[in-house]
Amino acid sequence: MLRIECPCCGPRDHDEFRYGGDASVTRPAHDDPDPEAWYRYVYVRTNPAGLHREFWQHVTGCRQWLVVERDTRNHAIASVDLARKLPARKSPA
Ligand SMILES: [Zn+2]
Repeated sequence: MLRIECPCCGPRDHDEFRYGGDASVTRPAHDDPDPEAWYRYVYVRTNPAGLHREFWQHVTGCRQWLVVERDTRNHAIASVDLARKLPARKSPA
């Protein structure tokens, strides 16, 4: 059983969470006209053997979105942080 240490609620079983996708991809600017950039954002993912940054939401707890750094080889969790603490992404000028 995967246990995730929620910064708000403490350690909880992963059944309380919902996987939210790859946290390492960057969304293109909303007015980016490049279809290739949107294609990469929506469909292209790496499949790393090792540490991977993922979004998880604590749906049956505090409902916070988290960024979990998990080793895909053994499910060991290296870090958990609130997603809202991520630095704001800058739009292209
Ligand atoms: Zn929580």
